[in-house]
This record gives sequence, C-alpha cells and structure tokens, in this order.
Amino acid sequence: MSKFEPIWRRFQGHMVIVGIALLILLIWRFGLRPSIVAVAEGDGGDTAVSLAATSEPDATRDPLQFGTGELPVLDDSSLAPAPNPHTFEGTLPQHEFITHTVVRGETPNGIAEQYGIEPETILGGNPRLSEESSLLQVGTELIILPIDGVLHDVQPGDTLESVSEQYGIPTEEIIAYEPNNLEFPYRLQPDTQIMVPGAVRELFVWTPPDLSSVGGTSVEGGSVRPVIVGTGTFIFPVNSRNYTQFFWYGHPGLDIALPEGSAVYASDTGTVTFAGWNVYGYGNLIVVNHGNGYETFYGHLSSFNVTPGQIVYQGNVIGGTGNTGNSSGPHIHFEIRINNNRDNPCWYIGC
Ligand SMILES: [Zn+2]
Repeated sequence: MSKFEPIWRRFQGHMVIVGIALLILLIWRFGLRPSIVAVAEGDGGDTAVSLAATSEPDATRDPLQFGTGELPVLDDSSLAPAPNPHTFEGTLPQHEFITHTVVRGETPNGIAEQYGIEPETILGGNPRLSEESSLLQVGTELIILPIDGVLHDVQPGDTLESVSEQYGIPTEEIIAYEPNNLEFPYRLQPDTQIMVPGAVRELFVWTPPDLSSVGGTSVEGGSVRPVIVGTGTFIFPVNSRNYTQFFWYGHPGLDIALPEGSAVYASDTGTVTFAGWNVYGYGNLIVVNHGNGYETFYGHLSSFNVTPGQIVYQGNVIGGTGNTGNSSGPHIHFEIRINNNRDNPCWYIGC
C-alpha cells in the first residue's frame, strides 16, 4: 500500500469520484444494493472488501476509498450506463396459447363453450375487444386462454401486489399459476404478460355528455331532463335483420350489417344528446336520450341528419349507416342503456 502513497495523495480528489462511479456501476451490474447499505452504515468491513476485491484486507481503511492498485480493470465504455439500467432479475412467463379465428355465425358464447371457458375470458385474453364496440368480427384472431381469467400486459411499475389489487385476485393465486413462472421475489418484467386466474377484465364505458351541456333541456325539481319523453317502446333502428354480433359481456350492443348509407331511425322519441365523432371506437355516433331513463346509441354512421339538442320522434331518419370507427364492414352498432347500464337491445326490439 505504502508504495502508492504519493500518487494516492496527489489524485485523491479524482479517485474519490472515480471510486464512487465504480461503486454505482458495481451496484448496477451485480445488484449489490443491500451490501452498499451496510457499507454506508459503517459496519460492513467484509462487504467493502468483497466490493473492492482487494488482496490485502485493511480494516482501518475507509471502505468508500479505493487504492489505485485495487481498482478493477474496466474499459471506457464500461462507464456508460447500461442500455437497461433496471436489470431484470427473475424468471420470465412461459405461456402457450391457442388462437382462434372467428368465422361467420360464431358467437362469443359458442367460442367460449368450444374451449371450456367463460365468454368473459375471451376479453381476458384480448384487451382490444374491451376498448371499443365491434371488433369481434369474422376473421378476428382471438387468443384463447387455457383457464378463466385475464392476461395482463405488465406495465413499467407494475408489481405483483398492484396487479393483485387491480383485479381483486390474491397474489398466491397468481403465483400458483405455473406458466407465470414466478419465483421469489416475484418481480414482474415489463413487456411480458402474466395470467391473473379468475379475473374479469373491466370494460371501458363511454358515456355521452350531460344533457345540461346541449340545448333543448329543462330543469325539473333540480335535475336536468330532456324536454320530451319517449313512448317506452323501441323499434328497429334499420331495415335489416342481418345480425353480425349479439349482445354479450364484451359487446354492449347489437350489430346489424347493411349497405352504407341506409336509413337509421330513431328507435324511440327523445332528445339528441350527441351527434359527432367518437374516438372510442363508435366512429360517427348519435345518442338519443328518451327522458325516461333510456338512451339509444347508433354507431359507425356515415352521415347525420340531426344535431345535439334536437327533438326526434320515433321512426324519424336520424342518419345513414356506415363503416366508421372500429368497424370491419358497413354495419350499425345499436345500444340501449337504462340508467347508464347497457341492456340487450333484443329484449326491446325482438331480434
Ligand atoms: Zn357493435
């Protein structure tokens, strides 16, 4: 040690900086975080020795200062940050999934039954289906999960606990699912997917603006109501019975195929609360509030005959069918909601 003494003193300031940089680098590369805590607390003579890899143990030396002879040999590039500083330590999931291509006439319930899973699990494996209103069309490729649950895309910052909380499924059940390949300390790696057994994916629900923000409304007893109340009965919104998708958990409406530009009728009397572009998959959308708790939605339209605030009567032509938004062919997506809950339109119009 003594023969390096003069050099050591001369470059002491530099060496401290280089030493700290090397220490940080070592922590990155070898995950020595617990060791460095011990060093900082001053009780880690052993860990300091192992970090510096010195051949002459010296208990009196400040562990944060390296002698020149003790520096590990590193080239210049080793001082640059690693491409992924958050080095993943753990095992990656190893899933194997069946894919299913939707053919004409298939229903979510039928597909689910074929594979022995719940219809909701179709959403569990295919997140895009829950984000819009009509993707389960002929030709759609579905991931079929082997058991009921949700395939979760791991986001940066996700932990086993946060995923458990998000879906209300105990961590033990996520760990117990073998293809997740989770081993202690159960770190999740972004850009992978883990299976959450028994979970159900929550659907995104877009709600039209409040009636108070459009014309044609009045206030009664403190609540905002449309000026006209519907009949309470509903008629077919189009002159077609060519159903392409029925109502189910993952599809809150009824899809009916027909040529672009066909007439769309107000299913009941009411006030138009929305007539415009919807970014959540509906495309050109009209929403009619019937003043009795009911609302009807008409999606993927090509044209509008009405504007927000306008009163429409049952059977009025309110627009033209189209293929806008998340749509793979000309069709109308028709929804009936009662007090903001999506109901099966077929129960009202008789499919
Ligand atoms: Zn639809």
